[in-house]
Amino acid sequence: MIDIPSIVQTSDRYNLHGHTQFCDGHADMEQFVVHAVDARFTHYGFTPHGPTSVPSTCNMTREAVPQFLSEVDRLRRVYGTRITLLAGMEIDYIDGFGPSDPYFQSLPLDYRIGSVHFIPSLADPGCFVDIDGRYERFSEKMRQHFDGDIEWVVRTFFRQMTRMVEQGGFDIVGHLDKIGHNASQYRHGIDREPWYDALVRDLIEAVLDHHLVIEVNTKAWAEHGRFFPAERYFGMLRAAHAQVVFNSDAHWPHLINAGRNEAMRAFIER
Ligand SMILES: [Zn+2]
Ligand SMILES: [Zn+2]
Repeated sequence: MIDIPSIVQTSDRYNLHGHTQFCDGHADMEQFVVHAVDARFTHYGFTPHGPTSVPSTCNMTREAVPQFLSEVDRLRRVYGTRITLLAGMEIDYIDGFGPSDPYFQSLPLDYRIGSVHFIPSLADPGCFVDIDGRYERFSEKMRQHFDGDIEWVVRTFFRQMTRMVEQGGFDIVGHLDKIGHNASQYRHGIDREPWYDALVRDLIEAVLDHHLVIEVNTKAWAEHGRFFPAERYFGMLRAAHAQVVFNSDAHWPHLINAGRNEAMRAFIER
């Protein structure tokens, strides 16, 4: 297990959340390493979407996990004098099944990210819906699976996140309030309503109680101008001395550092 806060304290050139050919990334692992070495990164962590209990083309299969781990080893042998490469995994929490499962705990990973991308369908019991994708698909699912009840979707997302945090078994909380991105397009300003704000703050309190690292996810910064968690929570995180890591969640090699410097600056200024 690696000490994530010590990486953050000694370097601002790292990324501990990224995707490759093993899930929905758009280049192979070596291309990301080459970019990271060129950018003089000290650390690069690979976090494929882990195997899930629901059908998903974005997640790797259990059969592919040993291949992933051996590719990290191979790249360490080639690039290990220039950069520290880490084997992580972004693990879905879906209705009780997540990072704490013995399967994930048995994998020889350097660290684990816990994330929620799926919530249960209202219309189709037993079906889990990916609410993390692009807005056009999200708005279709709002009609198809949730009868337009955006408050239920938001509350369910944060309930799943809180349960994941309470169950534990991981190191970093992935994109803590990501639902705010799609939800605020569906209902403008929803993420500034008091009940929504209270859900985010309660979740942050739970994360702090469990001494987990919070990622500031910068994937949507360039296109949509928002971080996860949103900038207005940076002050709360700073005041609580939260352990924070700045991750680009890159799916393309040229985006490994996208939004990270902006987020670090905003975090200091807030
Ligand atoms: Zn994610
Ligand atoms: Zn990710």
